[in-house]
Parts: sequence; C-alpha cells; structure tokens
Amino acid sequence: MKTFFNLVICTFLFLNISLGQRNCGAMDVLERQLIENPQMLKNMDEIERQVQEYLKNNPNGSGQRTVITIPTVFHVLYRTTAENISDAQIQSQLAVLNQDFTATNTDIGSVPALFSGLVSNVEVQFCLATQDPTGAATSGITRKSTTKTSWGTNDSVKKSSQGGTDPWNAANYLNIWVCNIGGGILGYAQFPGGSAATDGVVLDYRYTGTIGTATAPFNKGRTATHEVGHWLNLRHIWGDATCGSDLVSDTPTHNTSNGGCPSHPHYSTCSGAPVEMTMNYMDYTDDACMYMFSAGQKTRMRAVLEGSGARASLQSSPGCMPPSGGGSCSAPSGLTTSSITATTATSSWTVVSGATTYTYEFKENSSSTWIVNTVSSTSLNLTGLVASTTYNTRVKANCAGGSSVYSATVNFTTSASSSSCTDTYESNNTKNTSKTIPLGTTTTAKISSASDIDWFKFSSSSSQRNVQVTMTNLPADYDMELYRGNTFIMLSENDGTNDELVKHNTTQSTATYYVKVFGYNGANSASCYTLLAQRSASAYRSVGDDEEQTNGELVKEEFLVFPNPASSDITLVAPFGKHTDGYLTICDITGKVIITQKVTGDRNVKTFNMDVSSFDNGLYFVNFISGDKTQTQKLVIAEMK
Ligand SMILES: [Zn+2]
Repeated sequence: MKTFFNLVICTFLFLNISLGQRNCGAMDVLERQLIENPQMLKNMDEIERQVQEYLKNNPNGSGQRTVITIPTVFHVLYRTTAENISDAQIQSQLAVLNQDFTATNTDIGSVPALFSGLVSNVEVQFCLATQDPTGAATSGITRKSTTKTSWGTNDSVKKSSQGGTDPWNAANYLNIWVCNIGGGILGYAQFPGGSAATDGVVLDYRYTGTIGTATAPFNKGRTATHEVGHWLNLRHIWGDATCGSDLVSDTPTHNTSNGGCPSHPHYSTCSGAPVEMTMNYMDYTDDACMYMFSAGQKTRMRAVLEGSGARASLQSSPGCMPPSGGGSCSAPSGLTTSSITATTATSSWTVVSGATTYTYEFKENSSSTWIVNTVSSTSLNLTGLVASTTYNTRVKANCAGGSSVYSATVNFTTSASSSSCTDTYESNNTKNTSKTIPLGTTTTAKISSASDIDWFKFSSSSSQRNVQVTMTNLPADYDMELYRGNTFIMLSENDGTNDELVKHNTTQSTATYYVKVFGYNGANSASCYTLLAQRSASAYRSVGDDEEQTNGELVKEEFLVFPNPASSDITLVAPFGKHTDGYLTICDITGKVIITQKVTGDRNVKTFNMDVSSFDNGLYFVNFISGDKTQTQKLVIAEMK
C-alpha cells in the first residue's frame, strides 16, 4: 500500500512538471522572432506608440462601441486519428472564444467582488471563414495529414515548405493551427508586428475546445482565449518578470505566474502587496480557474483592432461573407463521402440556411461529364459505382434568390474488393458499447471510416485463465489493444496488413477482457477483418504467470530496468512502439524528480544506459513516457561495499 501511494505521488509530480502546468510558448517564440527578424522590434515599438495614442484619445475605453467579428480559419495537421480533431471540437473552441471575448462565459459570475467592476466585454466575435482567400466557398477548416510526430514552436507548422500549412492572408483572417506541439507547450501566439507569413495562433490538439481530445485541466478552451489575447497584443499578467508590468493599468502587479487554481484572495509580495487577479485569462491558472479580461486589457486589444491599429484590416475582411457569386445563399460546406464500398457511397454536406434544394454532382475523375442530381436533403446515396475508382463530387445550394457557387470539389475512391461484408457489431465505438464475442469462433467486422473504432469483450474463467486474440485477413493497417477490466495490458501494432496477435497469461481468473481494434493513422476499408478470441487452461503460456507476450515481430511493451538493485550503472529498455520520442525520468521516494531526459527511438525498442553512482541508497521510481502511455518501474539503489 505504501509503495502504491509513493508511486502515485511520483507519477503525479512528474506529470505536473511536464503536462500539468500551463506552459505557453508565446514569449519564447517572440524572443526567437525578434532575433530572426529585427524589423519586428521596430514594428512593435510603432504599435506600442499607436496603442498609447489610442489610450489618450479613448480614455476609459470610450473607443468604437461595435462588435468586431474576426474571420477565423483552423488548420488541422494530424498524424494520428486523434490529432485530426473533429469539426464539432473546433466548433466547441469557437464557442468558448465567442463567450470569453464577450464576457458571456458561464463562469463570469465567479469573478470575486474585488474585481467585478473590471470585468470587460471585449466586444470581439469569431466566425469560421465561409470564403477562402480566392473567394471560393470553405468550411473554415483545412486538414492535412503529416508524418511529423511533434512540431515544436519553430513555426514550421505554418510553412508548407516544411510540411505545415501556409497561413491565409493574415490581414483578413485569424489563422489557428491545431497540431501536436510537444514539449509540454499548450499553445503559442505571434504578437502584432511579426511577419504575416507566420501570423496567428498555434494550439496543441489536446488543449483545443471542450470535447474530443480536450484534456483536463486545460479542457475548457482557455488556451485559445489566452493565445488570442497575445495575438491581440496582451502580455502575461505578471509581465514575464518578477513583479513585471503587463502594460495594462488596471491589473494588479503579480509576483510571477500562478498555476493550478489559487484560492482568492491570493496576495502578491510585490510593492503594496496587492491581491493578484489569478482568474485573468493572461495568467497560467487552470482553464476552470480563469474567466475574465479587465477593462484595461480590452482597451489594449481594441487599440490594435480599430483605426490605424495593426489588425484593423480584419474589420473589412470578406472572410465571413458568402462566397462571391453566391446569390442569396452561401455554398454548402462540409462535403464529405462516407460508407464507401466498391460500388456504393454516401455523400453529405452541411445544411445551408434558405436553401430549398441542392444540386449535387459527381463524376469519375477521368471523365469530364458531371452526373447531376437535385435533392432536397443534405445527403445522397450513390450506387452503381466502379470499384477502385476515384470520383469527384461538388454541391451547390439553390435558394429563392438564385444558386450559390459550387463547394470546393471533394474526391473519394471506391474500394478494391467487391467482396462486401456485413458488420453486425456496430455500433461498438466505445468501451462501454463493447460487443460480446464468442470464444473459439471467428468474428468478422470492419473499420468503415477513419474514426471507426471497434470494441469487443469476452471473459476468462477460473479454469481457463490464459487468453489469446488473433486478427487476420487485415484489409489495411489495423492495430489491436487488449485491456483486462480498466487495465491496459498490451498493444499489437504490426505494420501494414500483417496479422496481429496478443497473448496474456495471468493468475487472475474470471476477468473481463476488452479488445480495441482501430486503423493506424485513420486506416479503414469496406472489407472485413477476422478476429479470434480464445481462452485456455495451459496454452498461450511461455515462461510464467502474469506475463504478456506477442509474436516475434511485435514490440515488447514492457519497460525494463536492470540490474535491480543497482549501484553504479543501469540499463533501461524503452519500448517506443510507433512513437519516435519519449521521456525518461527518475523520482525519489518523496516524489522529487532527480533526472528528466528526453530520448528518441524509432518505432522500436531502444536501450539506454544511465549513471546512477551519485544516487543515495534507497527506492526510486523510473518512468518512461511515450505517446500517451506512462510506464513505471521501481529501482533500488544499494551501494555494494
Ligand atoms: Zn501566454
């Protein structure tokens, strides 16, 4: 029990250091950009002069009193299915921005009386772009598949030449990139005055919006509120220095950043010992604990959006107007094709306000003749398609005042196999909806889309404790995970269409096992795979109890540390799986981190040596973190003398 307690503390502390603390990259990025681009410093000086001029001319926030709407585009860059966050998750982020910048957030009432007079409606709104820089219809979301594990903060995510996505004209759009940033950074922004080629905000996919991959304690969309604050010229509330200035007159002087969720009143030790405004969006507190901008911050933001401000051009942006030639209604967005088989597919799109019908067209990629359909709903089932063929689709809306322009053309390719299968197990996309499968009899099912996940369950018995799950006939690169109850046991992730296999030998009887099947990097197919779950009293064993193994091709999942006890050097065997980097860390029994080291591997097991001769005798915890998995081993240091 004691050991478990210490283990929890150690793991918690480590996560606190790498992930639990808000970490915004905006100031580090600013420092780098100022070195790379000396002009930016001059620009920022000029902008600051304009801000001060605005303050003089508009005392007490008496500037323009209209809501300014900022056309916004999200650029999603993804390597894994999880990183390709849904439209709904992006909408949830947009909703938070719209609430926070109008002080209509549901937690605004939590502002303590001391600061309630300073709460400010910034009168800024954000709309998803409806026309792109060429005037064509858009959903306001771009998506790009990438092989990059993480992007860091060097702006490469904003450059197509480096695998990223170029920004849309920064004079007309707020560009928000969503990707795996890495390094514990939640997001970063570029201040006004920087290069248009890198202008905008970058968010980590785990800290965007309020649903899907959004991860506590940063799952209320406030990373974007904070970063857009920087993008509109706000500084951190502690001025990035001990008792520093944030260039805003009505915010109290903060000692430094506040993390977590400080209780109010939290006193500063700066001159005058003011109560700190820890609930300000520009502090580092948890999402649930930041909920206001001050009046001074509003004025500073409005200064760059109005008159001769650095971002004033956004006010005349056409980004959220109907696409050119759109008549009285805008072009449909979100055109996508699903349920694709060798001969059938379903196209669907987002409803357009005012549309009475839609003109949907499709054709083989090699053909120049569109096949025209007029429909009143927002989807159409296509039949009689040719296998292994790429098709083009487009749709326009028909309103009383005329027709919109066509949406952007979207392609899909029919599957090769004409052998179709029936997936009787859907819906089983979550562990809670796992379908019970028979033991010893093959089951066929399919991963029909990039977001489809199949969950199955079965039980071992007291006399048959050993289990084995095999996946064969894989039509694409599918992987499989095995869980016993809520405990993750192992992952099988062979490349391509190689079979997957997991075996588990345990002393635990009558356990419920869960099998998760999913496509690597969104792999899916209209063809079925075959799954076979078996249990046995003696088979599938290798050496001993409570031991997992996979076939020889697979990555062994176990993180090993030896010798143990050790005195001078240890060897760590780290299973990277499909990841290319990770962290090794060692904590002592009090939870203090002794060593943290970033390590790189390459979809494989890698061995590291570490000198521990300076360690005191005692018990330590060694963590290996890769992807979203943390593995921990106990290590005893004993000086052998
Ligand atoms: Zn920041």
